[in-house]
Amino acid sequence: MNYEEATQELEDATIALSQAMINKVSSRELGVAQAKFNKAKKKKHMAHMNNLSKLARIVNKGNSYASNHVVTEEHKAKVREANSHPQTEEHKEKRRLAMIGKNIASKPIVSCPHCDKEGGVNMMKRWHFDNCRLSPNFDPRTRGE
Ligand SMILES: [Zn+2]
Repeated sequence: MNYEEATQELEDATIALSQAMINKVSSRELGVAQAKFNKAKKKKHMAHMNNLSKLARIVNKGNSYASNHVVTEEHKAKVREANSHPQTEEHKEKRRLAMIGKNIASKPIVSCPHCDKEGGVNMMKRWHFDNCRLSPNFDPRTRGE
């Protein structure tokens, strides 16, 4: 099925479908016309895609990556330069010193007054304190259960 044939078929199907609509045919006949139209539309699309890939093969001479997309060594060097962020030893040392004394991994440990469970403040606030099962204020709705 070539593109021209598919285009012709879609045109015919479109006319048939609009005539079916105008003539108020039975819903079954309308369904058939609709199905033919959809099929023809798909066929045309497939023929179109087929054409495109054929064209791409000609242009690329068998290479899946566009052969007219040439990356020169000069261009590569520029990209490499633009993407590199060299760090001096001084910079590294400054960063190291800035991190000293900061234990970013550990959050303050708190314990729940209702059940005495201990844990990181974030999770404890979510599941304990006013949201603790043993708390008199416990309301399952407020903690999304
Ligand atoms: Zn608790």
